Amino acid sequence: MFLRTLREDPAEAEVPSHRLLVRAGYIRRAAPGGYTWLPLGKRVLDKIVAIVHEEMAAIGGQEVHFPALLPREPYETSGRWTEYGNDIFRLRDRRGADFLLAPTHEELFTLLVKDLYSSYKDFPVILYQIQTKFRDEARPRAGLLRGREFLMKDAYSFDLSDDGLVESYRMHRDAYARIFDRLGLSYTIVSAMSGAMGGSASEEFLAEAEVGEDTYVGCTACDYAANTEAVTTPAPPAGDISAWPAMTAHDTPDTPTIETLVDLANAEKLGGRADWTAADTLKNVVLKVTRPAADPEVLVVGVPGDREVDMKRLEAALSPATVSLFEAEDFAKHPDLVRGYIGPQVLGSLKIRYLVDPRIVPGTAWLTGANEPGRHAVNVVCGRDFVPDGTIEAAEVRPGDPCPACGDGSLTMRRGIEIGHIFQLGRRYAEAFGLDALGPDATPIRVTMGSYGVGVSRLVAAIAEQHHDERGLAWPAAVAPADVHIVATGKGDQVDAAMKLGEELSARGVDVIVDDRAGISAGVKFTDAELIGVPTTIVVGRRLAEGYVELRRRGSDTREDVPVGQISAKL
Ligand code: ATP
Ligand code: MG
Repeated sequence: MFLRTLREDPAEAEVPSHRLLVRAGYIRRAAPGGYTWLPLGKRVLDKIVAIVHEEMAAIGGQEVHFPALLPREPYETSGRWTEYGNDIFRLRDRRGADFLLAPTHEELFTLLVKDLYSSYKDFPVILYQIQTKFRDEARPRAGLLRGREFLMKDAYSFDLSDDGLVESYRMHRDAYARIFDRLGLSYTIVSAMSGAMGGSASEEFLAEAEVGEDTYVGCTACDYAANTEAVTTPAPPAGDISAWPAMTAHDTPDTPTIETLVDLANAEKLGGRADWTAADTLKNVVLKVTRPAADPEVLVVGVPGDREVDMKRLEAALSPATVSLFEAEDFAKHPDLVRGYIGPQVLGSLKIRYLVDPRIVPGTAWLTGANEPGRHAVNVVCGRDFVPDGTIEAAEVRPGDPCPACGDGSLTMRRGIEIGHIFQLGRRYAEAFGLDALGPDATPIRVTMGSYGVGVSRLVAAIAEQHHDERGLAWPAAVAPADVHIVATGKGDQVDAAMKLGEELSARGVDVIVDDRAGISAGVKFTDAELIGVPTTIVVGRRLAEGYVELRRRGSDTREDVPVGQISAKL
């Protein structure tokens, strides 16, 4: 076996799965965001792939395989050549024609079905592939968890009706649950935003893991679970605009933070009150929003001052546009925007778009900037002193926030790794490419699609995150690189006996690794076996002379002596 285990953690590995997969000899870094599969890793990957194939076949999915190197045109037609921005690898052939390394294949699947199918009798159909994808991720990290080249299963459903799409979606949802159950993962299905893809219903499968990049919320009372990006904020009822006195502006020296502003407002009884809190202030964040192939727009987002703006939520809300914060040089170009003292009162006349957190409803009054250096205004009433252009989910979600689904419970925060993503694309791609089927009465029916992804290579790391301890990996049986790891120790005929046992077990369909290395101590072999993490270890050692071998189960400290002749029956 081509294998070298390492004693030391690789310097670049920040998360347990990455550390252990490299140390135990499963993968090896070959490029930034690119990994070589070593024999052990390849076995695990292949087992996952086999399970994915089985469950896709069970819902009638048929496998195809596209090139990864694709011409620009289809992605130009869908708009994604530009929309993807810096996230895709673009290249040019010797004739000067543009190509890309596909990040995902909606365009090609749509074109393939359009190419070959034309009648209502041809539908529905489910096609999929397991293929290497390329994305120029801004932050490749954590080994297999976020690569720039990775293996994905992408499936697409084609239906003639919305009901058909709902059914195809449900079938994939069930198939995914079966796949992840078989892989021994604990996961949560959360409702998600569909981001750059466009579309309606969308859910993500998140494997529970502390190192996960996705934060999601659950409810203390009901089974609501959602990506933080998808959490909606319940709006309070609108209030009475006329209940408030007129807006007034005040000098507020030395108030660089919301806290100092609130202290001063209470000390000076601004607006006749001494009960100000950060939640009564309105924080306005100025942003530059860039849409593909358009000039940047200035946008101001208002959130209650006791909350930060969550950039991931903000970006998801504005996707596919990208956002950046206004910097000193941007403010220099916009002298009307007084940095640190921005209030929404002036935004209407400046023709700057203003979006607010859903808690900022008509009839609420705020302490906010007075648009003059060193001054703030009180009784700035929504619907009277300013009128937002809409709402936006950009404020951070906090534990204890009310559940948007049941209203009774409150939200708790968890972390996970996105292992699968299913969504109802609808007709976006069918429209872009004119994918129709001729109906029974010869009128064209526009096809509706779903798209369903599984991060196959990422799964290796996600499983490792959930199945390891301080000694190494501890694979679930379904994906372990072998069922049994036989360790031969001692100087006698143990190696021969270990090989013979290995052959016997192989003949009965058990997947076996035999450690027959000469000149390696028993201690090192045991350490390696635990690091590699095969579910069962058989030690062929001292007691062989009496006819016994020792059975060990990974993850348990019990050891059992079993007569050699009974081991295969026992397993
Ligand atoms: P993420 O939010 O993690 O970037 P995504 O929303 O971009 O994922 P999709 O486009 O839905 O992902 O791709 C389908 C699946 O492919 C994801 O659910 C994930 O498991 C996997 N995947 C996506 N990007 C990567 C990557 N850079 N490395 C490894 N797997 C990935
Ligand atoms: Mg992504």
